[in-house]
Amino acid sequence: MCQAVSLNPIIRGWASYYRVSDAGTVGDFARLDRITYLRLRRWAKRQTGSINQGHQKYWHTIGDNHWVFITKPDSNGLKLLSHIEFHSSVNDYVKVRGDKSPYDGDNIYWSLRLSNHPDLPTTKRKLLKQQKGRCMGCGLNFLEGDLLEIDHINPISCGGKKEWKNLQLLHRHCHDIKTLF
Ligand SMILES: [Zn+2]
Repeated sequence: MCQAVSLNPIIRGWASYYRVSDAGTVGDFARLDRITYLRLRRWAKRQTGSINQGHQKYWHTIGDNHWVFITKPDSNGLKLLSHIEFHSSVNDYVKVRGDKSPYDGDNIYWSLRLSNHPDLPTTKRKLLKQQKGRCMGCGLNFLEGDLLEIDHINPISCGGKKEWKNLQLLHRHCHDIKTLF
């Protein structure tokens, strides 16, 4: 069940990111939950031998929701977050901006802060500066709290080289999308 522990920060990152952009629609959030579910179902089937047993072992009813992926069949268990629970309307987005949260739209401030961040590996810091704080996947500025990943523009599996000019920095969710399609 380490899936819940390692997936939750990714889901939270992706969903918070789209929550404060106006790009997220209910459809996108639901689609990602569906993809997550299908992958977990495949994993659960491998663990237990059948889809049914997998469902019985790993998904439980918590409140009104019959499909909670959780370590224990009660609310004390560690629960996998769903994308959809982060969805909010465009009105909320405006409100978040008005409240001067870290996601108040001051992109340049956050990008610069990130590019000087001592915890960030040198390659990521250099790429961040070279890309002027922008993700090469979606074109948006990176924000505090975003998960950043180094990508080979031309994948190694397609003959791409491990050299500087073949590297780019992407949001983790932009990287996932690139590798999926
Ligand atoms: Zn991106």
